[in-house]
Amino acid sequence: MPEREQWARTRVRSSRHARRGAWYRVILATPHEGTLLVNHQPLTVPRTFLQILPFRPQMWSVVARLRNAPHPPLVWGATYGVCPSCSARAPLGQHALNLRCPRCNAVFPVAWSDSAWCAFEGVETIAAERVARDQATRR
Ligand SMILES: [Zn+2]
Repeated sequence: MPEREQWARTRVRSSRHARRGAWYRVILATPHEGTLLVNHQPLTVPRTFLQILPFRPQMWSVVARLRNAPHPPLVWGATYGVCPSCSARAPLGQHALNLRCPRCNAVFPVAWSDSAWCAFEGVETIAAERVARDQATRR
């Protein structure tokens, strides 16, 4: 595992095991891919599919519903929330600021914008690229 804690969520549907919007512990990150701990199993995903942060966000992920997907129900609308604690999905309602999780009962704010996290993301990407460059020049 990396010395510092890292968490990642997938931007696209990359595996039936990883839920879009759910945060998973990163056990290995290279410039090309990230290995996440998904239900106690390692899952390797191309880096471009991942948003990696140096902390675990305590906010609902806002995820766009896939067209023609059987879940979640159509009545939830174009987007739905994924709980930052237990990864349950929930309808977001009318732009709710906070939401109680129907599964774990915890209340978290809804991350309608995650632009504040981009700063951390950039740092992680630059660090990963620097490590890759250092390794390449050492060979
Ligand atoms: Zn929950």
